[in-house]
Amino acid sequence: MTDPRLYYGDPLRASDEIRLGRDESHYLVSVMRRQAGDSVRLFNAQDGEWRAVILTADRKGTILRPEEKLRAAQGVPDLDLLFAPVKKARTDFIVEKATELGVRRIRPVLTRRTIADKVRIDRLAALAREAAEQTERFDLPEIFEAEKLDAVLNGWPADRVLIFCDEAGEAPPMAEALRGRGASKAAILIGPEGGFTPEERDRIRRLPAAMPVSLGPRILRADTAVAAALTLWQSGCGDWAGHAQARD
Ligand code: SAH
Repeated sequence: MTDPRLYYGDPLRASDEIRLGRDESHYLVSVMRRQAGDSVRLFNAQDGEWRAVILTADRKGTILRPEEKLRAAQGVPDLDLLFAPVKKARTDFIVEKATELGVRRIRPVLTRRTIADKVRIDRLAALAREAAEQTERFDLPEIFEAEKLDAVLNGWPADRVLIFCDEAGEAPPMAEALRGRGASKAAILIGPEGGFTPEERDRIRRLPAAMPVSLGPRILRADTAVAAALTLWQSGCGDWAGHAQARD
């Protein structure tokens, strides 16, 4: 049984004493049934992953002592996901999959046909944190406040390709469009369940950095499109390309 893995945002140094709050303590003691003397893995993007021993543990608070650095931190590629929020459960799925699939920034975008419950950034950040712990990332994806599509496009940087998943327009298959691109700064844009309006489609395509792509002959749900597009990008340009899985 592997040691539980918890994100810890403050510095990790050998022999420090670290106090965990109520939520993490409840998870460790009540859910993972750990107690004093057991080991836990603590990690963050600066200090990597450390093995820490539990000194005292009860539901209200836990004290840990980092003892040994296990792994240096590794970053994820410079990839942003821009998506139009959809119904809560599917938005949750999108945030969790984007975290596992190595997105650095998650940016909710409000388009004309976006019908979504209020985007609760704190809730999405908690989901992303749990997914980062499970997927063995070292950093947490940055979750942005929801922004209107026009504002996002108006300020778009010329050096970041905007891979526009266009379900309705003429566009090359994504894998073909990415061939030979390498892992330069990138963003992937996925629309709402109702798709983009023709005006939005034109506006996006007029952007010099835009790269319209197709995800095949069928119309995918937004959450399916996110998983498919991120998989294509990571395997073609990102940190899956050339990665030989070495699991100890
Ligand atoms: N317009 C469709 C639904 C859009 S699906 C309808 O009205 O039924 C939601 C989003 O997923 C789209 O805006 C697009 O970004 C992406 N998507 C879905 N299927 C796609 C495909 N075959 N090619 C490219 N993008 C796709």
